[in-house]
Amino acid sequence: MDVTVFSTKPYDRRFLDAANAQGQHSLHYLEARLDADTAALAFGSTAVCVFVNDCVDRAVLTQLHACGIRTVALRCAGYNQVDLAAAEALGMAVVRVPAYSPHAVAEFTVALMLALDRNIPRAWARVRENNFALDGLIGRNLNGRTVGVVGTGRIGALVARTLRAGFGCEVLARDVVHDPALEAIGVRYVPIDTLLTTSEIVSLHCPLTPATHHLVNAAVIAAARPGLLLVNTSRGALVDTRALIAGLKSHKLSGVALDVYEQEADLFFEDLSNEIIQDDDFQRLLTFPNVLVTGHQAFLTEEALTAIAETTLASLDDAQAGRPLQHQLRAETALSPS
Ligand code: NAD
Repeated sequence: MDVTVFSTKPYDRRFLDAANAQGQHSLHYLEARLDADTAALAFGSTAVCVFVNDCVDRAVLTQLHACGIRTVALRCAGYNQVDLAAAEALGMAVVRVPAYSPHAVAEFTVALMLALDRNIPRAWARVRENNFALDGLIGRNLNGRTVGVVGTGRIGALVARTLRAGFGCEVLARDVVHDPALEAIGVRYVPIDTLLTTSEIVSLHCPLTPATHHLVNAAVIAAARPGLLLVNTSRGALVDTRALIAGLKSHKLSGVALDVYEQEADLFFEDLSNEIIQDDDFQRLLTFPNVLVTGHQAFLTEEALTAIAETTLASLDDAQAGRPLQHQLRAETALSPS
């Protein structure tokens, strides 16, 4: 199968080539992000392979279809960037990688939580300047703290388990589906309002849907426990950035760690160190001493990249052979109440 791979980074190429070692597919690597201006570059392929910040809306899908594309392979779990109804109407199959390594994201989430709470990036910056003073670096134990986990699917369940069984936290959870294995170790499912008003730390692990857009907004921050720490490794638009900035300025929030950002498509995955960043909200976030931002790297482990490449290639094998697609997304998936 001829596949145009958009938003290719050197590590994508390395892992996709390893999974395609038999040369069963012709992979055409492009650094360009998929959007209305670049869709035509897929001409000659029958499939495209895309990532989280590629634009796969109705207009782009229509262009891709006209170029001969019949399969869209997402090399990620989230699919909020895709108009599934449009794809279905055009007769295009959309496949994803539902679970490549939930451990990669869960472990990174806990790493962010600890780094933020124990001021590790600030400490490292000081030590590099031969400043060994400890003033301003006082943290808190995780043990005994109340942590709210929103979404206990593959990633959230691992985070909840690590915090509960590993660190001895009180873990409150919210999900439309309860996980009895988590309840058995003492994780307590509570209504979202209780979770958001009771927790000292909140970690977001639910998908971005119309129901969860700006789940953390000004009203939620106003009602939150003073000194709340917020960690988001899920999707940027779960959080209203301006409300976050206001909450940090008023000291209502005592710290924020983000691996995802609402407007990350204009920033992340690129070296912009010689550019003037035009996003004033993002720049403001970076000025707070108690904000830690990483550029959507929670997934980035050897294990996850191997699994992403292998699952993507297996889906392309199935598409080529006309077999049922195990990881196909249907339009109703996006509309399901969550
Ligand atoms: P999952 O589908 O296994 O779990 C999501 C859970 O959220 C499900 O249990 C679902 O019932 C629950 N949920 C849905 N709506 C909810 C709501 N309104 N309130 C509470 N819970 C709700 O997904 P996952 O694999 O655990 O991924 C979780 C998130 O992490 C996704 O948004 C995904 O895009 C993101 N993610 C980020 C990275 C990264 O590198 N930062 C990597 C992979 C995944």
